[in-house]
Amino acid sequence: MNPSAPLRSRLAPTPSGYLHLGNAVNFLLTWLRVRTAGGTLKLRIDDADSDRTQPEYIEDIFRQLDWLGITWEEGPSGPEDFQHHHSQLLRRERYRAVLAELSATNALFPCTCSRKEIRAQSATGLYPGTCRERREVPDGEHAIRVGVPAETVVQVGSAAVPLGSLMGDFVLWRRNHQPAYQLASLVDDLDDRITCIVRGADLLASTAAQLFLASKLGPTGAPFRAITFHHHALIPGEGGRKLSKSDNALSLHAMREAGVTPTLIYQAAARLLALDPYAIESLDDLLAAYRRL
Ligand SMILES: [Zn+2]
Repeated sequence: MNPSAPLRSRLAPTPSGYLHLGNAVNFLLTWLRVRTAGGTLKLRIDDADSDRTQPEYIEDIFRQLDWLGITWEEGPSGPEDFQHHHSQLLRRERYRAVLAELSATNALFPCTCSRKEIRAQSATGLYPGTCRERREVPDGEHAIRVGVPAETVVQVGSAAVPLGSLMGDFVLWRRNHQPAYQLASLVDDLDDRITCIVRGADLLASTAAQLFLASKLGPTGAPFRAITFHHHALIPGEGGRKLSKSDNALSLHAMREAGVTPTLIYQAAARLLALDPYAIESLDDLLAAYRRL
């Protein structure tokens, strides 16, 4: 990244459930970084790859951001504006065009395997490569995958991520005619001229997958390869498991009903940053403490 270029980052929730504590902390860490750098923050709701999108979950995103006091400069102002002007479902042709660019590299193949067939053939859950040599597009429903050689390792900052053994040949286009997350997220980050991404450590493999795609795109993908990535530790869920949308008790929605205040969320972010949580009462306190880091 050009160090003099203004920092541009984004909040990118998926509307497949209520936002949880982990999402909130990620948003705060992103917001802090953008505010201290005098950068620009975009709200982007990743709804292309979800069969579980509900209007209620989209409303929840705006409600919780407002509750946390998080502001953004670009992106939808509310649920209606989102549906009419910002939904990824409106950008299908754009994703198709990048898919066609990737297809020109001969790295893609159509795949007719069902989840059940893949499970039956693969002990690891990784795609077993059944359709890898297929070049003719079959009639009827199929996904499109990108071939990832087993030995592929992608460097993400100081981490060497073994993408081939972690993800295998991953899906770019789904059987339901929508782009998969890895493709839509990459294209949006390129189009939004994002220079900095703050993500949970659980998305390290996704970052590697997107960098792998960006390298296939040549000069078009170069701005993505110049992004600075920060992968932060996760807030553990019950029993130390990764927090997920199914941990209803830790949804912001449920926490608010139980009387939790934003201060508690700011303190959780402070803890992750190794700041003294008891010195933090407001978002301003958190920002001030972050600036002193
Ligand atoms: Zn297949």
